[in-house]
Amino acid sequence: MAYAFGRVADEDVDPFVHGSQDEEAQVGGSWTPHQWRDRPAAQLPDYPDSAAAERIEKRLAAAPALVSVADIQHLKAQLAQVSARRSFLLQGGDCAESFAEFGADKVRTTFNLLLRMGAMVQAESGTNVVHLARIAGQFAKPRSATTETRGEVTLPSYRGDAVNGPAFTEKDRVPDPKRLLEAHRQAEVTVQLLAAYAEASYADLRRIHNEAGLSAPLRPVSMFTSHEALLLNYEEAFTRFDPATESWWATTGHFLWLGDRTRQVDGAHVEYARGIANPIGLKCGPSLSPDELNRLIDILDPNNQPGRLTLIGRFGAGKVEEHLPTLLKVTKDRGSNAIWSIDPMHGNTRSAGAHKTRMLADIVKEISAFFAITRAEGAHPGGVHLEMTGGHVTECLGGSVQVEEADLPLRYLTHCDPRLNEQQALDVAHELAGLVAN
Ligand code: PEP
Ligand code: MN
Repeated sequence: MAYAFGRVADEDVDPFVHGSQDEEAQVGGSWTPHQWRDRPAAQLPDYPDSAAAERIEKRLAAAPALVSVADIQHLKAQLAQVSARRSFLLQGGDCAESFAEFGADKVRTTFNLLLRMGAMVQAESGTNVVHLARIAGQFAKPRSATTETRGEVTLPSYRGDAVNGPAFTEKDRVPDPKRLLEAHRQAEVTVQLLAAYAEASYADLRRIHNEAGLSAPLRPVSMFTSHEALLLNYEEAFTRFDPATESWWATTGHFLWLGDRTRQVDGAHVEYARGIANPIGLKCGPSLSPDELNRLIDILDPNNQPGRLTLIGRFGAGKVEEHLPTLLKVTKDRGSNAIWSIDPMHGNTRSAGAHKTRMLADIVKEISAFFAITRAEGAHPGGVHLEMTGGHVTECLGGSVQVEEADLPLRYLTHCDPRLNEQQALDVAHELAGLVAN
């Protein structure tokens, strides 16, 4: 595999020192970015060389923040608008970013696709759209099985490029902490590219605006970044205390979410997420009980702050009707300001021969059911969370340009879950636009 490690200085640098005792006292307690280490942690890699991992964590802790506190606060304010039923959250991107696919074109196509989808929803419904890309840090994956067997050979599962390699070889599958440096480098470049594209699209809009002689004020298009808060050693290294807000912030991305496999009430991931001031997400699958959801909201959003918590349902088209209403009752009964969003991907995965796939019909069905159920319960259908790519892949089935089972091997490029291709994503946006508008 050919990729260069680097960018973070090799020489000895003073490691970032996490806030002083005084600062910790200011956040009203004793939370520190490293205390998740005392909790049971699911899904974390077991590095064979823990000293090497520690050295790399120190180098990362000395690197500058990837995103600014001001931008994170900007997103939180926009999400508060979603909570207040004035905006819609559009979140999407790869299941897993990969080192091999990385490049400016890849970032640009994701950026453009999200903007096009958002424009469709906005034009038809008149509702403002918050664009949140699954990008610039989505390099690690929770797995259902710890090992993978092919024929006679069993190896550790692939856990995303930030952890190990996708090739089915013993060498590739060993967790290597140096991979965190490459993940960080690519995330940093991605954040810079997104900022440049946002600036360029704003400049374009301004030109169109001036030529058309419009007088209404123009707001810049903002594109925020998000990923699953899975690798807590990486997150810890970039968790910084901001004296102005007297809070700890995760600075690897604007928005982090907890996966359905790492949301244990007493687990390390929940312990980490509760201490950061960022807007956060929580995946809610069929195994989440109403009681657990109540306890998680107590821990993750004790102040019931609008924009702080987004609950991302992911039940499956056949299960959403069974599970969503009881969870909606929890948020309704406690008067929670949490946003409800729907991930119609992860409950609808099925296998077709050697490939994992998803059918567009199931995806649209779960989204439609989400809108119908939330509205029937007097809740707000606040957003959607999609796995998609601007590329012309053949990973999901169906759509206006039919992808059929026989087509799957043609361009099945994902390293993890099957993504909507560009046309399928636009098909979903078309459906969404109608649903948001009604
Ligand atoms: C994902 O979003 O890629 C994922 C693994 O989701 P979940 O935690 O909902 O299974
Ligand atoms: Mn996925």
